[in-house]
Amino acid sequence: MLATDATNPAFMQRLRHRLEQHDRQGLVRNKLLREGPCQPVQRFADDDLISFCSNDYLGLANHPSVIAALQEGASRYGVGSGGSHLVTGHCAAHHALEQALAEHTGRERALLFSTGYMANVGVINALMGQGGVVLQDALNHASLLDGGWLSRARSIRYRHNDMSSLQDLLVQHQHEHCLVVSDGVFSMDGDVAPLPELTALASRYGAGLMVDDAHGFACLGATGRGVIELFPEHGGIVLSQALPVLVGTFGKALGTAGAFVAGDAALIAYLEQFTRSYVFTTAMPPALALATLASLQVSQTESWRRQRLQALITRFRQATSAMALPVLDSHSAVQAVVLGDIDETLAASAVMRDHGLQVSAIRPPTVPRGEARLRITLSAAHSDEQFDLLIRALGAIDEQYRARRARCLDGGGKDGKG
Ligand SMILES: *Cc1c(COP(=O)(O)O)cnc(C)c1O
Repeated sequence: MLATDATNPAFMQRLRHRLEQHDRQGLVRNKLLREGPCQPVQRFADDDLISFCSNDYLGLANHPSVIAALQEGASRYGVGSGGSHLVTGHCAAHHALEQALAEHTGRERALLFSTGYMANVGVINALMGQGGVVLQDALNHASLLDGGWLSRARSIRYRHNDMSSLQDLLVQHQHEHCLVVSDGVFSMDGDVAPLPELTALASRYGAGLMVDDAHGFACLGATGRGVIELFPEHGGIVLSQALPVLVGTFGKALGTAGAFVAGDAALIAYLEQFTRSYVFTTAMPPALALATLASLQVSQTESWRRQRLQALITRFRQATSAMALPVLDSHSAVQAVVLGDIDETLAASAVMRDHGLQVSAIRPPTVPRGEARLRITLSAAHSDEQFDLLIRALGAIDEQYRARRARCLDGGGKDGKG
Protein backbone atom coordinates (compact mmCIF):
# COMPACT_ATOMS: atom_id res chain seq x y z
CA MET A 1 0.00 0.00 0.00
CA LEU A 2 1.18 3.51 -0.81
CA ALA A 3 1.16 5.91 2.11
CA THR A 4 0.87 9.57 0.99
CA ASP A 5 3.73 10.32 3.30
CA ALA A 6 6.04 7.99 1.43
CA THR A 7 5.17 9.48 -1.97
CA ASN A 8 6.80 12.77 -1.13
CA PRO A 9 8.12 12.91 2.45
CA ALA A 10 9.48 16.43 1.96
CA PHE A 11 6.05 17.73 1.02
CA MET A 12 4.38 16.43 4.18
CA GLN A 13 7.38 17.47 6.23
CA ARG A 14 6.91 21.10 5.22
CA LEU A 15 3.24 20.99 6.26
CA ARG A 16 4.13 19.42 9.59
CA HIS A 17 6.77 22.05 10.17
CA ARG A 18 4.34 24.88 9.52
CA LEU A 19 1.74 23.39 11.86
CA GLU A 20 4.33 22.93 14.63
CA GLN A 21 5.40 26.53 14.26
CA HIS A 22 1.78 27.63 14.53
CA ASP A 23 1.43 25.54 17.67
CA ARG A 24 4.57 26.99 19.28
CA GLN A 25 3.12 30.49 18.77
CA GLY A 26 -0.02 29.52 20.70
CA LEU A 27 -2.12 29.87 17.58
CA VAL A 28 -3.58 26.40 17.20
CA ARG A 29 -7.33 26.44 17.72
CA ASN A 30 -9.28 23.50 18.97
CA LYS A 31 -12.88 22.71 18.22
CA LEU A 32 -15.36 22.09 21.01
CA LEU A 33 -17.84 19.31 20.43
CA ARG A 34 -21.30 20.70 21.06
CA GLU A 35 -24.21 18.36 21.45
CA GLY A 36 -27.35 20.49 21.49
CA PRO A 37 -28.72 23.55 19.67
CA CYS A 38 -27.20 27.01 19.53
CA GLN A 39 -28.75 28.77 22.53
CA PRO A 40 -27.38 30.57 25.60
CA VAL A 41 -26.83 27.37 27.57
CA GLN A 42 -24.85 25.03 25.35
CA ARG A 43 -24.16 21.39 26.02
CA PHE A 44 -20.59 20.18 25.54
CA ALA A 45 -19.16 16.75 26.26
CA ASP A 46 -17.97 17.62 29.77
CA ASP A 47 -20.29 20.35 30.92
CA ASP A 48 -22.89 22.96 30.11
CA LEU A 49 -21.55 26.44 29.36
CA ILE A 50 -23.30 29.75 28.90
CA SER A 51 -22.14 31.00 25.54
CA PHE A 52 -21.19 34.61 24.98
CA CYS A 53 -19.54 33.97 21.64
CA SER A 54 -22.18 32.81 19.20
CA ASN A 55 -23.42 35.07 16.40
CA ASP A 56 -27.04 34.20 17.17
CA TYR A 57 -27.71 37.80 18.20
CA LEU A 58 -31.49 37.60 18.20
CA GLY A 59 -31.84 34.07 19.54
CA LEU A 60 -33.40 32.71 16.33
CA ALA A 61 -31.18 29.70 15.60
CA ASN A 62 -33.40 27.49 17.77
CA HIS A 63 -36.70 29.33 17.33
CA PRO A 64 -39.77 27.02 17.04
CA SER A 65 -41.19 28.82 13.95
CA VAL A 66 -37.86 28.57 12.16
CA ILE A 67 -37.51 24.88 13.01
CA ALA A 68 -41.09 24.24 11.88
CA ALA A 69 -40.45 26.01 8.56
CA LEU A 70 -37.36 23.88 7.95
CA GLN A 71 -39.33 20.71 8.68
CA GLU A 72 -42.24 21.76 6.50
CA GLY A 73 -39.83 22.73 3.75
CA ALA A 74 -38.18 19.31 3.90
CA SER A 75 -41.59 17.62 3.61
CA ARG A 76 -42.50 19.76 0.63
CA TYR A 77 -39.17 19.86 -1.25
CA GLY A 78 -37.05 17.04 0.16
CA VAL A 79 -33.52 17.94 1.17
CA GLY A 80 -31.21 18.84 -1.72
CA SER A 81 -32.10 21.40 -4.38
CA GLY A 82 -30.66 19.04 -6.99
CA GLY A 83 -28.91 21.67 -9.09
CA SER A 84 -27.59 25.17 -9.51
CA HIS A 85 -30.01 28.10 -9.63
CA LEU A 86 -29.60 28.58 -13.39
CA VAL A 87 -30.27 24.93 -14.19
CA THR A 88 -33.03 23.31 -12.10
CA GLY A 89 -32.22 24.15 -8.47
CA HIS A 90 -34.15 27.42 -8.19
CA CYS A 91 -37.41 26.81 -6.30
CA ALA A 92 -40.41 28.88 -5.29
CA ALA A 93 -38.98 28.98 -1.77
CA HIS A 94 -35.79 30.69 -3.03
CA HIS A 95 -37.84 33.12 -5.06
CA ALA A 96 -40.03 34.05 -2.09
CA LEU A 97 -36.98 34.66 0.10
CA GLU A 98 -35.30 36.81 -2.55
CA GLN A 99 -38.42 38.95 -2.86
CA ALA A 100 -38.76 39.36 0.90
CA LEU A 101 -35.10 40.38 1.17
CA ALA A 102 -35.42 42.92 -1.65
CA GLU A 103 -38.45 44.44 0.02
CA HIS A 104 -36.84 44.47 3.47
CA THR A 105 -33.71 46.22 2.23
CA GLY A 106 -35.55 48.63 -0.10
CA ARG A 107 -33.78 47.22 -3.16
CA GLU A 108 -35.24 46.10 -6.50
CA ARG A 109 -33.84 42.59 -6.35
CA ALA A 110 -31.81 40.18 -4.23
CA LEU A 111 -29.76 37.11 -5.12
CA LEU A 112 -29.12 34.14 -2.81
CA PHE A 113 -25.81 32.49 -1.99
CA SER A 114 -25.01 29.40 0.05
CA THR A 115 -22.64 31.29 2.37
CA GLY A 116 -21.47 34.83 2.98
CA TYR A 117 -17.96 33.78 2.12
CA MET A 118 -19.12 32.68 -1.32
CA ALA A 119 -21.18 35.83 -1.83
CA ASN A 120 -18.25 38.12 -1.06
CA VAL A 121 -15.64 36.25 -3.04
CA GLY A 122 -17.98 35.80 -5.99
CA VAL A 123 -19.42 39.29 -6.14
CA ILE A 124 -16.08 41.13 -5.99
CA ASN A 125 -14.73 38.73 -8.55
CA ALA A 126 -17.67 39.41 -10.87
CA LEU A 127 -17.48 43.20 -10.50
CA MET A 128 -13.73 43.56 -10.75
CA GLY A 129 -10.91 42.27 -12.93
CA GLN A 130 -7.45 43.05 -14.17
CA GLY A 131 -6.91 46.82 -14.36
CA GLY A 132 -9.43 47.56 -11.61
CA VAL A 133 -8.71 48.75 -8.09
CA VAL A 134 -10.37 47.37 -4.94
CA LEU A 135 -10.10 49.69 -1.95
CA GLN A 136 -10.62 47.73 1.26
CA ASP A 137 -10.93 48.83 4.86
CA ALA A 138 -7.95 47.40 6.72
CA LEU A 139 -10.23 45.43 9.06
CA ASN A 140 -12.51 43.93 6.42
CA HIS A 141 -13.56 40.30 6.79
CA ALA A 142 -11.26 37.68 5.24
CA SER A 143 -13.85 36.79 2.59
CA LEU A 144 -13.80 40.35 1.24
CA LEU A 145 -10.00 40.42 1.15
CA ASP A 146 -9.92 37.02 -0.57
CA GLY A 147 -12.46 38.25 -3.11
CA GLY A 148 -10.24 41.20 -3.95
CA TRP A 149 -7.17 39.03 -4.46
CA LEU A 150 -9.00 36.43 -6.51
CA SER A 151 -10.39 39.10 -8.84
CA ARG A 152 -6.90 40.00 -10.08
CA ALA A 153 -7.70 43.67 -9.60
CA ARG A 154 -5.22 45.64 -7.54
CA SER A 155 -6.17 45.41 -3.85
CA ILE A 156 -5.27 48.33 -1.57
CA ARG A 157 -6.24 48.67 2.08
CA TYR A 158 -7.11 52.03 3.63
CA ARG A 159 -6.78 52.72 7.36
CA HIS A 160 -9.70 51.44 9.37
CA ASN A 161 -12.73 53.77 9.06
CA ASP A 162 -10.35 56.55 8.07
CA MET A 163 -12.07 58.57 5.36
CA SER A 164 -9.08 60.77 4.58
CA SER A 165 -6.97 57.68 3.95
CA LEU A 166 -9.71 56.42 1.62
CA GLN A 167 -10.03 59.79 -0.09
CA ASP A 168 -6.32 59.93 -0.87
CA LEU A 169 -6.59 56.59 -2.64
CA LEU A 170 -9.76 57.59 -4.50
CA VAL A 171 -8.06 60.74 -5.78
CA GLN A 172 -5.08 58.73 -6.90
CA HIS A 173 -7.23 56.18 -8.76
CA GLN A 174 -10.19 58.31 -9.86
CA HIS A 175 -9.80 57.46 -13.53
CA GLU A 176 -9.78 53.71 -12.92
CA HIS A 177 -12.54 51.13 -12.36
CA CYS A 178 -12.68 51.38 -8.57
CA LEU A 179 -14.69 49.52 -5.94
CA VAL A 180 -14.76 50.56 -2.29
CA VAL A 181 -15.48 47.64 0.03
CA SER A 182 -16.31 47.72 3.73
CA ASP A 183 -17.84 45.66 6.50
CA GLY A 184 -21.03 47.31 7.79
CA VAL A 185 -20.33 46.29 11.38
CA PHE A 186 -16.72 45.18 11.82
CA SER A 187 -16.78 41.56 12.89
CA MET A 188 -13.96 41.62 15.46
CA ASP A 189 -14.27 45.22 16.75
CA GLY A 190 -18.03 45.76 16.61
CA ASP A 191 -17.82 49.33 15.35
CA VAL A 192 -19.82 50.58 12.39
CA ALA A 193 -18.66 51.91 9.01
CA PRO A 194 -19.41 55.63 8.47
CA LEU A 195 -21.93 55.06 5.68
CA PRO A 196 -22.82 58.70 4.92
CA GLU A 197 -19.13 59.55 4.36
CA LEU A 198 -18.46 56.33 2.43
CA THR A 199 -21.39 56.89 0.07
CA ALA A 200 -20.46 60.55 -0.45
CA LEU A 201 -16.83 59.70 -1.27
CA ALA A 202 -17.71 56.83 -3.61
CA SER A 203 -20.14 58.97 -5.54
CA ARG A 204 -17.78 61.97 -5.67
CA TYR A 205 -14.99 59.91 -7.21
CA GLY A 206 -17.17 57.68 -9.37
CA ALA A 207 -16.35 54.46 -7.52
CA GLY A 208 -18.60 51.51 -6.81
CA LEU A 209 -19.44 50.78 -3.18
CA MET A 210 -20.05 47.41 -1.56
CA VAL A 211 -20.96 46.93 2.10
CA ASP A 212 -21.07 43.56 3.84
CA ASP A 213 -23.52 43.87 6.71
CA ALA A 214 -23.18 40.34 8.09
CA HIS A 215 -23.27 41.56 11.71
CA GLY A 216 -25.75 44.41 11.32
CA PHE A 217 -28.45 42.83 9.17
CA ALA A 218 -31.64 42.08 11.17
CA CYS A 219 -29.99 43.43 14.37
CA LEU A 220 -29.41 47.12 13.86
CA GLY A 221 -31.92 49.82 13.03
CA ALA A 222 -35.42 50.11 14.45
CA THR A 223 -36.81 47.63 11.93
CA GLY A 224 -33.70 45.47 11.50
CA ARG A 225 -32.57 46.69 8.10
CA GLY A 226 -29.08 46.87 9.49
CA VAL A 227 -26.42 49.49 9.02
CA ILE A 228 -28.38 51.12 6.17
CA GLU A 229 -31.03 52.12 8.74
CA LEU A 230 -28.65 53.73 11.25
CA PHE A 231 -28.36 57.14 9.63
CA PRO A 232 -31.83 58.69 9.81
CA GLU A 233 -30.62 62.00 8.39
CA HIS A 234 -30.50 60.12 5.09
CA GLY A 235 -34.28 59.79 4.97
CA GLY A 236 -34.83 56.40 6.58
CA ILE A 237 -32.57 53.95 4.81
CA VAL A 238 -29.53 54.36 2.60
CA LEU A 239 -30.81 53.43 -0.87
CA SER A 240 -29.06 51.59 -3.66
CA GLN A 241 -28.31 54.82 -5.56
CA ALA A 242 -25.90 55.62 -2.73
CA LEU A 243 -24.91 52.07 -1.80
CA PRO A 244 -25.29 49.90 -4.89
CA VAL A 245 -23.97 46.56 -3.57
CA LEU A 246 -25.38 45.40 -0.23
CA VAL A 247 -24.49 41.99 1.19
CA GLY A 248 -26.15 40.37 4.19
CA THR A 249 -25.81 36.91 5.68
CA PHE A 250 -28.18 34.50 7.39
CA GLY A 251 -25.75 32.69 9.69
CA LYS A 252 -25.58 35.52 12.20
CA ALA A 253 -28.74 37.26 13.47
CA LEU A 254 -31.16 35.15 11.41
CA GLY A 255 -29.73 31.97 12.89
CA THR A 256 -29.80 29.90 9.67
CA ALA A 257 -27.16 29.78 6.91
CA GLY A 258 -26.57 31.47 3.57
CA ALA A 259 -26.32 35.02 2.27
CA PHE A 260 -27.69 37.49 -0.24
CA VAL A 261 -26.64 40.45 -2.31
CA ALA A 262 -29.25 43.15 -2.94
CA GLY A 263 -29.30 46.03 -5.39
CA ASP A 264 -30.86 47.47 -8.53
CA ALA A 265 -32.34 45.06 -11.08
CA ALA A 266 -29.50 45.88 -13.50
CA LEU A 267 -26.82 44.96 -10.96
CA ILE A 268 -28.51 41.71 -9.98
CA ALA A 269 -29.11 40.73 -13.62
CA TYR A 270 -25.36 41.17 -14.18
CA LEU A 271 -24.33 39.26 -11.05
CA GLU A 272 -26.73 36.42 -11.85
CA GLN A 273 -24.80 35.77 -15.07
CA PHE A 274 -21.22 36.48 -14.04
CA THR A 275 -20.82 35.47 -10.39
CA ARG A 276 -18.99 32.17 -10.48
CA SER A 277 -19.86 31.24 -6.90
CA TYR A 278 -23.52 31.66 -7.87
CA VAL A 279 -23.44 29.94 -11.25
CA PHE A 280 -21.19 26.98 -10.49
CA THR A 281 -22.67 25.73 -7.26
CA THR A 282 -25.71 23.89 -6.00
CA ALA A 283 -28.56 26.12 -4.83
CA MET A 284 -29.07 26.08 -1.06
CA PRO A 285 -31.67 23.54 0.11
CA PRO A 286 -35.11 25.06 -0.51
CA ALA A 287 -36.17 24.10 3.02
CA LEU A 288 -33.36 26.30 4.31
CA ALA A 289 -34.71 29.18 2.21
CA LEU A 290 -38.13 28.67 3.84
CA ALA A 291 -36.57 28.55 7.31
CA THR A 292 -34.67 31.75 6.56
CA LEU A 293 -37.86 33.41 5.31
CA ALA A 294 -39.58 32.41 8.56
CA SER A 295 -36.65 33.76 10.54
CA LEU A 296 -36.72 37.06 8.64
CA GLN A 297 -40.43 37.34 9.43
CA VAL A 298 -39.89 36.63 13.14
CA SER A 299 -37.10 39.22 13.20
CA GLN A 300 -39.51 41.75 11.69
CA THR A 301 -42.50 41.05 13.92
CA GLU A 302 -40.71 40.38 17.22
CA SER A 303 -38.98 43.73 17.45
CA TRP A 304 -38.63 43.18 21.22
CA ARG A 305 -35.61 41.03 20.33
CA ARG A 306 -33.73 44.01 18.91
CA GLN A 307 -34.81 46.13 21.86
CA ARG A 308 -33.67 43.48 24.32
CA LEU A 309 -30.31 43.23 22.55
CA GLN A 310 -29.89 47.02 22.62
CA ALA A 311 -30.73 47.09 26.33
CA LEU A 312 -28.04 44.47 27.05
CA ILE A 313 -25.50 46.39 24.96
CA THR A 314 -26.23 49.57 26.95
CA ARG A 315 -25.91 47.70 30.26
CA PHE A 316 -22.66 46.14 29.11
CA ARG A 317 -21.21 49.54 28.22
CA GLN A 318 -22.24 50.94 31.59
CA ALA A 319 -20.82 48.03 33.57
CA THR A 320 -17.49 47.96 31.75
CA SER A 321 -16.99 51.73 31.76
CA ALA A 322 -16.11 51.38 35.45
CA MET A 323 -13.42 48.78 34.67
CA ALA A 324 -9.82 49.27 33.60
CA LEU A 325 -10.18 46.65 30.85
CA PRO A 326 -9.58 47.97 27.32
CA VAL A 327 -13.07 47.50 25.86
CA LEU A 328 -13.37 48.83 22.30
CA ASP A 329 -15.98 51.46 21.56
CA SER A 330 -18.89 49.51 20.09
CA HIS A 331 -22.65 49.82 20.15
CA SER A 332 -23.31 46.55 18.37
CA ALA A 333 -23.68 43.01 19.71
CA VAL A 334 -19.92 42.50 19.28
CA GLN A 335 -17.91 43.75 22.27
CA ALA A 336 -14.15 43.28 22.21
CA VAL A 337 -11.81 43.31 25.20
CA VAL A 338 -8.40 43.76 23.57
CA LEU A 339 -5.81 42.38 25.98
CA GLY A 340 -3.17 42.21 23.26
CA ASP A 341 -1.05 39.40 24.58
CA ILE A 342 -2.02 35.89 23.44
CA ASP A 343 -1.31 34.11 26.74
CA GLU A 344 -3.13 36.75 28.74
CA THR A 345 -6.13 36.42 26.46
CA LEU A 346 -6.13 32.64 26.79
CA ALA A 347 -5.95 33.03 30.58
CA ALA A 348 -8.91 35.43 30.53
CA SER A 349 -10.86 32.94 28.46
CA ALA A 350 -10.05 30.31 31.12
CA VAL A 351 -11.38 32.61 33.86
CA MET A 352 -14.61 32.86 31.87
CA ARG A 353 -14.69 29.09 31.71
CA ASP A 354 -14.24 28.87 35.49
CA HIS A 355 -17.37 30.97 35.80
CA GLY A 356 -19.23 28.57 33.51
CA LEU A 357 -19.02 30.91 30.52
CA GLN A 358 -17.82 30.27 27.01
CA VAL A 359 -16.01 33.27 25.49
CA SER A 360 -13.37 32.52 22.93
CA ALA A 361 -9.93 34.06 22.69
CA ILE A 362 -9.56 35.58 19.24
CA ARG A 363 -5.97 35.52 18.06
CA PRO A 364 -4.02 36.31 14.90
CA PRO A 365 -4.55 35.84 12.00
CA THR A 366 -8.22 36.60 12.74
CA VAL A 367 -7.06 39.89 14.30
CA PRO A 368 -3.78 41.79 13.78
CA ARG A 369 -0.71 40.78 15.78
CA GLY A 370 -0.62 42.24 19.28
CA GLU A 371 -4.41 42.62 19.30
CA ALA A 372 -5.54 39.29 20.74
CA ARG A 373 -8.86 39.72 22.47
CA LEU A 374 -11.90 38.30 24.12
CA ARG A 375 -14.73 38.72 21.66
CA ILE A 376 -17.93 38.85 23.66
CA THR A 377 -21.19 38.67 21.78
CA LEU A 378 -24.51 39.53 23.34
CA SER A 379 -27.82 38.00 22.35
CA ALA A 380 -31.45 38.90 22.94
CA ALA A 381 -31.77 35.36 24.28
CA HIS A 382 -29.47 35.95 27.27
CA SER A 383 -31.31 36.20 30.59
CA ASP A 384 -30.54 38.87 33.20
CA GLU A 385 -28.91 36.21 35.40
CA GLN A 386 -26.65 35.07 32.56
CA PHE A 387 -25.71 38.65 31.79
CA ASP A 388 -24.93 39.38 35.46
CA LEU A 389 -22.67 36.34 35.56
CA LEU A 390 -20.78 37.70 32.54
CA ILE A 391 -20.22 41.01 34.31
CA ARG A 392 -19.02 39.19 37.45
CA ALA A 393 -16.51 37.17 35.43
CA LEU A 394 -15.32 40.32 33.66
CA GLY A 395 -14.90 41.91 37.07
CA ALA A 396 -12.55 39.08 38.08
CA ILE A 397 -10.57 39.50 34.85
CA ASP A 398 -10.46 43.24 35.45
CA GLU A 399 -8.99 42.74 38.93
CA GLN A 400 -6.20 40.56 37.55
CA TYR A 401 -5.61 43.04 34.77
CA ARG A 402 -5.24 45.93 37.23
CA ALA A 403 -2.94 43.88 39.49
CA ARG A 404 -0.70 42.95 36.57
CA ARG A 405 -0.50 46.51 35.38
CA ALA A 406 0.35 47.76 38.85
CA ARG A 407 3.14 45.16 39.09
CA CYS A 408 4.49 46.15 35.69
CA LEU A 409 4.50 49.83 36.61
CA ASP A 410 6.20 49.13 39.93
CA GLY A 411 8.86 47.17 38.15
CA GLY A 412 9.27 49.98 35.64
CA GLY A 413 8.30 47.56 32.88
CA LYS A 414 5.83 48.10 30.11
CA ASP A 415 2.24 48.78 30.99
CA GLY A 416 1.06 45.33 30.07
CA LYS A 417 -1.24 46.51 27.31
CA GLY A 418 1.05 44.88 24.77
C1 LIG B 1 -19.38 35.67 9.04
C2 LIG B 1 -19.02 36.70 8.03
C3 LIG B 1 -19.01 36.38 6.67
C4 LIG B 1 -19.15 34.98 6.18
O1 LIG B 1 -20.48 34.58 6.17
P1 LIG B 1 -20.78 33.03 6.18
O2 LIG B 1 -22.20 32.97 5.77
O3 LIG B 1 -20.55 32.57 7.55
O4 LIG B 1 -19.86 32.40 5.18
C5 LIG B 1 -18.79 37.40 5.77
N1 LIG B 1 -18.57 38.66 6.18
C6 LIG B 1 -18.54 39.00 7.49
C7 LIG B 1 -18.29 40.40 7.87
C8 LIG B 1 -18.76 38.01 8.44
O5 LIG B 1 -18.69 38.33 9.72
